[in-house]
Parts: sequence; structure tokens; C-alpha cells
Amino acid sequence: MSAKTTPMMEQYHALKAEAPDCLLFYRMGDFFELFFDDARTAAGVLDIALTSRGEHGGEAVPMCGVPVHAAEGYLARLIKAGCRVAIAEQVETPEEAKKRGGSKALVRRDIVRFVTAGTLTEETLLEPRRANVLAALCEVRGELGIASVDISTGRMELEQCLPDEAEAALARLVPSELVVPEGWDAAHQAAIPRPRSTFTSEEGERRLKAVHGVATLDGFGSFTRPMLAAAGGLVAYLDHVGRGTLPLLLPPEVREVGALMAMDAATRASLEIVESQGGGRAGSLLGAIDRCMTGAGARQLAADLAAPLTDRAAIEARLALAAFFHADPILRSDLRAAMRAIPDIGRALGRIVAGRGSPRDLGQVRDGLAEARRLHDALAARTDRPPLLMELLPRLAGHGALVDWLARALVAAPPTERQNGGYIAEGYDHALDALRQTSGSARRAIAALETRYRDETGVAALKIRHNGVLGYFIEVPARHADALMANDSGFTHRQTMAGAVRFNSLGLHEEASRIAEAGGHALAAEEAHFEELTAAVAAAREPVAATADALARLDVALSHAERAAEGDWCRPAIVEESCLDIRGGRHPVVEAALARGGERFVANDCTLAPDDRLWLIGGPNMGGKSTFLRQNALIVLLAQAGGFVPARSATVGLVDRLFSRVGASDNLARGRSTFMVEMVETAAILAQATPRSFVILDEVGRGTSTYDGLALAWAVVEAVHSANRCRCLFATHYHELAHLAGTCEALSLHHVRAREWKGDLVLLHELSEGPADKSYGLAVARLAGVPPAVVNRAKAVLNRLEEGRAETGGLAAGLGELPLFAALQAAPEKRSDAVRERLATTDVDALSPREALELVYELKRAAASTEH
Ligand code: ADP
Repeated sequence: MSAKTTPMMEQYHALKAEAPDCLLFYRMGDFFELFFDDARTAAGVLDIALTSRGEHGGEAVPMCGVPVHAAEGYLARLIKAGCRVAIAEQVETPEEAKKRGGSKALVRRDIVRFVTAGTLTEETLLEPRRANVLAALCEVRGELGIASVDISTGRMELEQCLPDEAEAALARLVPSELVVPEGWDAAHQAAIPRPRSTFTSEEGERRLKAVHGVATLDGFGSFTRPMLAAAGGLVAYLDHVGRGTLPLLLPPEVREVGALMAMDAATRASLEIVESQGGGRAGSLLGAIDRCMTGAGARQLAADLAAPLTDRAAIEARLALAAFFHADPILRSDLRAAMRAIPDIGRALGRIVAGRGSPRDLGQVRDGLAEARRLHDALAARTDRPPLLMELLPRLAGHGALVDWLARALVAAPPTERQNGGYIAEGYDHALDALRQTSGSARRAIAALETRYRDETGVAALKIRHNGVLGYFIEVPARHADALMANDSGFTHRQTMAGAVRFNSLGLHEEASRIAEAGGHALAAEEAHFEELTAAVAAAREPVAATADALARLDVALSHAERAAEGDWCRPAIVEESCLDIRGGRHPVVEAALARGGERFVANDCTLAPDDRLWLIGGPNMGGKSTFLRQNALIVLLAQAGGFVPARSATVGLVDRLFSRVGASDNLARGRSTFMVEMVETAAILAQATPRSFVILDEVGRGTSTYDGLALAWAVVEAVHSANRCRCLFATHYHELAHLAGTCEALSLHHVRAREWKGDLVLLHELSEGPADKSYGLAVARLAGVPPAVVNRAKAVLNRLEEGRAETGGLAAGLGELPLFAALQAAPEKRSDAVRERLATTDVDALSPREALELVYELKRAAASTEH
């Protein structure tokens, strides 16, 4: 076959047309070949040689290839680099092709699967401790539906939100692939457009019913139209990439928006919850607290941290389980040791249901379920079980029959490949044992033949050997070959090599056929058992997945308990009141980093209450302000995720929304200046924070001129205090803001302490009450290595400035007489009330153009009349 043969290129182009946005892996023998631009892309990403093959349209066809047996590794790298791959396999053998279309016939090929970032199941392509989420997003009458699934474990979630909440929802899910209806303007840039017709609620309902074989979805929960429409798009996409084979999909769960603490993308990034700003787990909250023994546990912990709860009972249930393990170090260490041995049954199940399971996956399910039962028995004996444990226990047991079956059927350590068989245990199938015995006895017979032939021919160097091409053969050194060549020797010549000659004999042929036949039958028998076992596991998918989840939940609670014991952390008290009382709080990441350098972290208190809910925090740069802000936000987050917290004691009043604006989160990639980003994020906080929210704000106004900055910071503090009325920590270097303590009754002043000692600045990282006494900017500059000449010059400039300030009353002179923010803000709102109301009650979609025009006139009249 040469590339010039048009039929092959025709076939190639036809397949490529089915997958225009994918790299096409075109199977040719033992290789997947890529051509044209695909070859250029892949050769670049994989750093493999780009060659060419024949020509097409008068030009050489660029080509590169990867060996089939090593394809997974190459796939992993391509997917990581953001590529999508279509796998075109040979779907008939060359013999079948010849039979069908004569000697020149081209082997038929088909795309059997698309490999995309969101649809992986292979162990080698997935990170064990990280979920891999595929999401679908669409809009139905102004509401968004989001469907998401981790197909490696089949967990599916549906939720509904308003368009401006989509970014926050996606920031929680961090999908590795997102699909949206084609032609949708509001779509995310990297999203993959899919046919609109698949994103309808009817389609979603139909597909979900079909997947789960039910006549109604009522048993799973109540789903809204946007949710179903998104589910439709999601399942249709999975159907497309799997070429009709669907992966494991568990019944969808509804995510109630209010049941989770809301955090927008900026907050998540700034708090470095599951990933640090540099990317990666190291330096993140997750990295600092994850003591899970299993990949599934680590994935569950990451999901918990990304979605802290707002329901007190649910949080307490998690905390009680962690406390149960915290209180009993021996039980904890036993269970953690047992956890280490538990395979990832959720993902093994995912592969099995997707039709990509191996004997090893079956073995993992067997071992995981058996281990779960042992955990169950160890825990069931306890009398003091907390409620969540009571709930989890039944899910750990109850697979007795399936485990027994798998235990009888499989060898102890089944292989990942099944083509060579050998994974079905002895004694499970007598017919299979007999077949194996036959090949065993034939093998022994062959060994006996070797001895016999040596005796008969007198050639001591005679050997019976085996290779993939000839099968069994007799080999003698060339100089002894003559005797065997004789017509009546009983040997038939097969091959002459450089130093050896190879023969066959009737006896050997018979024994070899027995081996081949028995081997073939044995393989077929194992294959049949494999299918049956796979079907049995797949049929138990829901209870098996529930066991996997229960194990993960236990692992998470054990991790919290272990981490708490390591760092002397405490169980937080969760209350409904809007307070926050943290004593001896610490920042888990900074503390760990300091500890590595042998330094001690200074613990600090944070005590917010309804009548003291806004703390203004001053003090020198590097004094520990933003660390303090962040540690309190992290403690709240950790507490509501159900974990122990790094503090001596903590009482956390439930937080509905958490906002963090700390540090320069440069969003330059999105083409916005730092100041613009800061203002956008501040605007979001002012618009959304409620009296139950917790906000940390660092250096608002820093990005602009002093006057602008102070004015903005001033107004933001007033608004947060009097309009949002949320709990807030506000770090600033504007001393002038201290004046606000006189007008804002629930605001108090604090600062991080520093001392100058023998001309050097000592940062104590200790929080104290009262305003910051002075700036230490110059001292910090000196600390940072700014040359003495420059620091001295700055000192002279500063003295002059301070003289000026003394004369004029300073930057904030006159601000004391400003009317209160609260008195101002109500006024302008009122004037347009009539107009607003009219607008709010108008169904815009129902208006004809003429009616719309009339409405504009009406609004104009209304606006004019309310102005007077
Ligand atoms: P600021 O926001 O006031 O400029 P940071 O919070 O960024 O200061 O802290 C600067 C550095 O000081 C941190 O990187 C950390 O090494 C150290 N630090 C902060 N808080 C503490 C603390 N409570 N105990 C010990 N070291 C601290």
C-alpha cells in the first residue's frame, strides 16, 4: 500500500471530514499514522520525527506515527497540550478485505472513539488525585443550565443559575472540557460548539431516561428545564465521542445553589483553594491539608473545599465524623493503613462500564469491595458511631455475592491485558482447567519429544523452539542438518538460517496443534467469563459507586482528623449568628512554609460580631495583613467544608458568600489593568455581599492616585459597613481611614505590630487593637535592599510632605464633616422607583416593536414626573 494509491487517501480524507477539529490517528499495522497538518502539530507537540509519504496534489504528504502499543503515553501528551484525537481503527483484517474486494482491497477503517480532555477513563491518562470534569452549559429563557460529569467515576450533577453566576459555577467545577450549543454568543471562548437540537429539555429527559432505563426521572429528583437541556447536550456529546458507547453515568444529582457557599472565580483564585496562583497543588489550601490515603479521597476533599456547605446540620455531620477519628488515634491509624491498600474502585468501575475494563479492573473492584467490608466490620463493632458513619456503614457492606464470585473467578493479581489470558483462576471452570491441562501435557510432550529426537538423531544441540511466525519448530546447527534433511528422516525442512536449519515433524505438529487448539479454546473461555463478570459488575454499578463514595468520604474525614492531630487544630463550632470568633488562628500554608525554614508562625485572634463586624487593619507592608485576612477566610471555608481548622478555638457564624480581594491578581492576560480588575471585583462585592457574607479586602484603591484611591477606599468601607452590613476585614495603608471609626459604629481599628530596633525594622506579625501608629514604608524599603542614598533622599522628601500635612490638616482634612453614607444612598434610588417598577413588571419578549416604542414614551413621561 503506498500513499499514492488514491483509495487510501480518499479513505483518509473521508475519515478526517468526520473529525475536522481532531488529530486523526490512522491505524496502519502496528502504528497510528498522522498526515498533513495533523502530522505537523503532533510532531511538534510530541517532539517526534516528521517524515513524508508519497504525494498528494503534487506535494509530499507530511507524516508522523506512533506505535500502537505506546499510543497511550503519546495521547496523554497531546490531550495535555489541548488537542483532541480521533482514533481510526482497522475494522477488518487484511484477509477479510481481500475476500471482500480482491487482492488490492483497502482495509476498512472507522473512527471508533474520540479522545478528549473531558472524556478520559484510562488510568494512565488521568491524575489519580484530581477529578476530570466535562460540563455542558446552555441557556433556556434567561436561565442557565449546567450539567457536569466526571466520566471516570460517573458522577453527574445538574444545576441552574442566572447568567452572571455561570462563571462562579464553572470556577467551582473547573471542567477540562466544556460544550455549549453552537452559535451561542455568550459562550465561553474555549467551549466546544455542539448541535443546538441536542440542548433541549425534551432531549435531555429522553436521553436520561434511556441511560437509566426508567420511565420517569421523578425518582432521581426534580429537574428544571435548563438542567435537562444541559443534560441533553452533555449526554449527546458523550454519545458522539464514544461513537454510540456511553460511559458510566450515575443518576444525576441536583446542586441546590443555596446549599453551597458562593465564591466567585476571583475569590477562588485569590484564596488558592485547590490550586496556587502559580498553578499546581503545592502552595494551595488543598496541598496543605490533604492527608487522604486514596486518590478518590483526595478528589472528594478537593470537591468539598471547592463547595463548602451552608447547611449547619450537614456541616456538623461531617465534623462529627472527623472528630470521631480525631479522638481515637489508634482506630485512625488502623483505618488509614487499611485505606492505603484500597484501589480506586470508582474509576475501575468507570472503565468497566465504558467497555474499556481490564481483568485488573475487575480485580480492583473485588479487592476494594472486600476491603470495604473489612472496614465495615471494624467500624460496626463500635458503639459510639456518629450519624454520618451510621449512614455510610451500610454502603461499605453488602456486595458479598459479587465479591465471592470475583474472588473465585479471578487470579490474585489479574493482568491489565487480556489477550494472553491467564486471569481466570484455577478451579473456577473445569472445562477451562481441562484445556489448560491439555496444553500443559502437550508442552510436556514437546519437551519429551526434544529428548527423544536428540537421542534418535544423535544431535545433542537439537532444540525445539517457538516463535511468533513459525510456531513450534525443531532447530539444529547447520553442520548437523544433513541427517534430518534425508527423505525418510521423519523431519520436514522449514527454514534455513545463517547457522541453523529448522524442521517440523508430524509428532511436533500434532502436539503444537493441541496446544494451539486448547489455547484458543481456553482464551475464548476466559473471554466469555470476562464478559460475564464485567456485566455483573456493570449491573451493580450504583451500589458499587456508592461504596466508592462512602470510602472516599471516610478517607476525607480521616484526613481532616490526621491533619488536625498533626497541627493541633480544633473542631470549629458552627452557629447561625453573624459572628466570627477565632482565637489563635493560623494560615495553614504560610505556617507550613515558615516551618520549613525553622520559623514560627504568630497566631492571631479575629473576633467579629454584629456590633463589631468591620475591622480596618493597618500596619507596615510585609507586616502580615494579607496573611491575616486570608487565614480567616480559609478557616471559614475549611469549617464549612466540614474540616477542623488551624486555630486554638473557632466559632464560625454561617457564611452564605465569601469574597476575597487580596493581592494583585494580575489579570493582564484578559487585557485589564490591575486597577480595573480591582474595581470590577470590588463592584461585584458591593453588589452581592449580604449581612451573612464574609468579605476580605486588601488595599482597595492602591492601583490609582492617592486622592482617588483614598476616596474610593473611604466610600467602599462606608458602603460595606452601612449597606452590605457583612462581616469584613479591610486592610489598608491609608491612615486617614481611621477617621471612619468615628462615624461607623460597627467598625474598629486594628494594626499589625512592628518595632524599630537599633534602626532596624522588626515585624512582629502580631495583631493589636487601635490605629497603626506610623508607616514604616522607608524602613521596609531599606529592609528590601533599596540603596541607603535613595532611602535617605526619600526621608528628606517625607519630612517636607509631613510639614505640609501639618499645615493643611492632611489628606483627609474636612472629611469628618461629610454627611453619612447611609443617609446619602437611599435618596437617588427613590426617584426612579416608578420607572423601575414598570420595567420590572414588563415581559420584554411579549412586546411587539410598536408596544416597545410606546413603553419608551411612557417611561420617559414617568421619569419626568418623578423628577419634580
Ligand atoms: P502584608 O499584607 O502586610 O504586606 P503579608 O501578609 O504579605 O504582609 O506577610 C508578609 C510575610 O510575613 C509573609 O510572607 C510571611 O512570611 C510573614 N508573615 C505574615 N504573617 C505572619 C505571622 N502571623 N507569623 C509569622 N510570619 C508571618
